[in-house]
Amino acid sequence: MNSYNSTRNKNSQLTASQAILKGLAPEGGLYIIDDFDDRQIDISELINKSYQQQASIILGKLLSDYSQQELEECIRQAYDTKFSDKQITPLQAVGDDYVLELFHGPTSAFKDIALCLLPQLIKVARKKNRVEETITILTATSGDTGKAALAGFEDVEGTEMMVFYPYNGVSAVQKMQMVTQTGSNVHVCGVRGNFDDCQRNVKEILASHEHDELLNKKKRILSSANSINVGRFTPQVVYYFTAYCELVKNQVINLGEKINFVVPTGNFGNILAGYFAKQMGLPIAKLICASNENNVLTDFIQTGVYNVHRTFKKTNSPSMDILISSNLERLLYLLSDAETIDYLMKQLQEKGSYQVDESIFTQINQSFYAGYATQNETLKTIHSVYEKNNYLMDTHTAVATKVCEDFKAEQINEHKCIILATASPYKFVGDVLKGIGEDTSLNEFESMKKLNEITKVEIPTNLQKLDEMPIRHKQLVEIENMAAYVFGVIDHD
Ligand SMILES: *Cc1c(COP(=O)(O)O)cnc(C)c1O
Repeated sequence: MNSYNSTRNKNSQLTASQAILKGLAPEGGLYIIDDFDDRQIDISELINKSYQQQASIILGKLLSDYSQQELEECIRQAYDTKFSDKQITPLQAVGDDYVLELFHGPTSAFKDIALCLLPQLIKVARKKNRVEETITILTATSGDTGKAALAGFEDVEGTEMMVFYPYNGVSAVQKMQMVTQTGSNVHVCGVRGNFDDCQRNVKEILASHEHDELLNKKKRILSSANSINVGRFTPQVVYYFTAYCELVKNQVINLGEKINFVVPTGNFGNILAGYFAKQMGLPIAKLICASNENNVLTDFIQTGVYNVHRTFKKTNSPSMDILISSNLERLLYLLSDAETIDYLMKQLQEKGSYQVDESIFTQINQSFYAGYATQNETLKTIHSVYEKNNYLMDTHTAVATKVCEDFKAEQINEHKCIILATASPYKFVGDVLKGIGEDTSLNEFESMKKLNEITKVEIPTNLQKLDEMPIRHKQLVEIENMAAYVFGVIDHD
């Protein structure tokens, strides 16, 4: 049961529900399981089951201290009519490839898949562990996590949510989604900095003990809803299996045949879930890691050197504008051990770079391929896919599509490719419109109407009336004042 360790300390064994409550391990490591021996999935058993049934089988293997009944109840609450598609993550044939649409949840981004379930998992975890404190959840967002977390946690008993976003680093739609959020337990705060600044400070606040007395007095426990939380990336393992089963069911592939997944990657959470699926028995040939111009992961996977000394770029796929991909630490741990991770992460902190050894490097290249797309290539891909296949994709999905094309051109590949579509085109509407060659002088809300007129693709309900909703959150802080903000809110409560 106590199967979760810290990536930086192998003696910190916790159950899944305890790891979910904690978020980050005390010495700054991330919680993770050590092996997959008892976690193998028999895919033939999944084939004719619903998304919800598949989720309960797969999560049962990963979150083993939750009873099957508890999981089923959490899953029932998470994946219901909040999703506009009954299949939850439908698969579309687009040209020779397949697109797995992960954006039919309440905020139109793939983060809904995890963030609809996480609050339910936390609610049960509090009960299981007899926790009486309120779980105060700190979240740094590059735009999509914030809204998905706010929507997921809105008025969930025993929880409180604080979201930090880079004030000038998110789209107008993303900002409006967050600052209009309702609920008595939610706080939204802009930061004069970028996503990495927000994420670094959230991690520091979580790891610090400076305010323990206040937290005790106010009966609070700090945790995180970022993909550093075990309850964040585990729900994402499910749709890799679902997509595979869909191809088998439609006789595109035979059971047991390998396929590739192409994943638009930022913090490495989504693609790590794919690696988990592979370790649990899903026949994956390559996990293709697609980056934008912040291509630190492309370089790392190609050379074994992780180096953050480069200029941070604001791109048209902003949810991937990240230089420090937290979840990579989990992959490296699975390929080595806690001492190695402790060493590498110290190198990263002290020098801003590290190099992995030959053994890790070889293992990475067995499972992963990496590439990136420039902003221009991203727009061109939106255009060509729309022209050729009449399919409208967002900028992040377009990055993955471009890298998929490069992969197929470079490598001998006999496997089907599934591209993960991580956002609705309406979330990044200005650039999508530009991509298909249209006027871009409009504001984002006018652009939505225009894109709808031209393409006839429906505007998701949650985005339709956004510009008319009252703004409820106007906080803005300097990077160094994030901690003061958090403890100020808690103290005044
Ligand atoms: C968060 C996000 C990503 C990156 O996912 P990671 O799990 O951080 O790698 C890609 N696309 C969109 C639209 C996102 O919101």
